[in-house]
Amino acid sequence: MQAHFKPHAVEVERPDISRWEVSNVGAAPYVHEFKSQEIGADVLITSLVHGNEYTGAIVLSELLALLSSCKLVLHRGSLTAVFANVDGFARFDPTQPDASRFVDQDLNRVWSPALLAGSAQSSELARARAIRPYVERATHLLDLHSMHEPCEPLLITGLLPRNVAFAQSLGGVGQVVMDAGHKDGVRMRDFAGFGSEGGSKIALLLEAGQHWQRASVAAVQNVVIRFLLRAEIVTMQEVIDAGLQAWLAADRKPPAPVQVTHAVVARSMQFEFTQAFTGNEIIAKAGTVIAHDADQAITTPYDNCMLVMPSIRQLRPGVTTVRLGRRVAM
Ligand SMILES: [Zn+2]
Repeated sequence: MQAHFKPHAVEVERPDISRWEVSNVGAAPYVHEFKSQEIGADVLITSLVHGNEYTGAIVLSELLALLSSCKLVLHRGSLTAVFANVDGFARFDPTQPDASRFVDQDLNRVWSPALLAGSAQSSELARARAIRPYVERATHLLDLHSMHEPCEPLLITGLLPRNVAFAQSLGGVGQVVMDAGHKDGVRMRDFAGFGSEGGSKIALLLEAGQHWQRASVAAVQNVVIRFLLRAEIVTMQEVIDAGLQAWLAADRKPPAPVQVTHAVVARSMQFEFTQAFTGNEIIAKAGTVIAHDADQAITTPYDNCMLVMPSIRQLRPGVTTVRLGRRVAM
């Protein structure tokens, strides 16, 4: 076993979200909604789509407390907050922190209309069917995740230019990554209108940093406020009045987006990186060996290749161990 298989320290405690079980509008459990009188964007923020990634739930819980006590008031539009895979989250065990990602299957691979309308049953399909109406009606989705390894935050946009532009315009939120999704199922952020070229719906997925680090909580706070401001459902004055200015990190011109071009899939249990990569490393020369998979050397396909979320924490044949990308001109 390699040294970096050691579980990461759990710096932030698993939050108690039980006070949010009963919806404030009679919706599905762990779904809360706040509305302004003024018409505007219908923003949906989801956390715990993966049950062990709870930094998003910490921030969403703080946000809901401010909205419930009217310390934060929406300027226009609506905000729906969803704690998604609460059954997976309920199984979180700090001695096995990677084990509670889901109950039966990955909740972020079930978002095809055929699968949701079909007869297959699982804990995650039941939850996806329950929260589908809120996902379907949202004009703006921010899906909060975190990562296996400590890394600068990533905003995953899919391939549609409108999402890339929206992510780049948030400013100061880390690296924007364009990707085509996964072969093993459809993500929430690619569901229905979010993935259609003709529409105007916005969907971003935040990978905030390592699952249980304090820095990841701060990254979520920053992105959440920037997203609400950019969707124009709150103004800076409302952010200041609610005492949320401290959530904002300094403005920073974002680097050019990175487009994912390859997924490296493990063929064996003998997959090992040549270094303890954690993500966003740029490998200067094409042909550089970055990993060995049994007898096979894995090399970079082009110069200045970026490693996106390398991890062998969940290694088994067929698992994606790293994605490769390069910067694109905007
Ligand atoms: Zn996740």
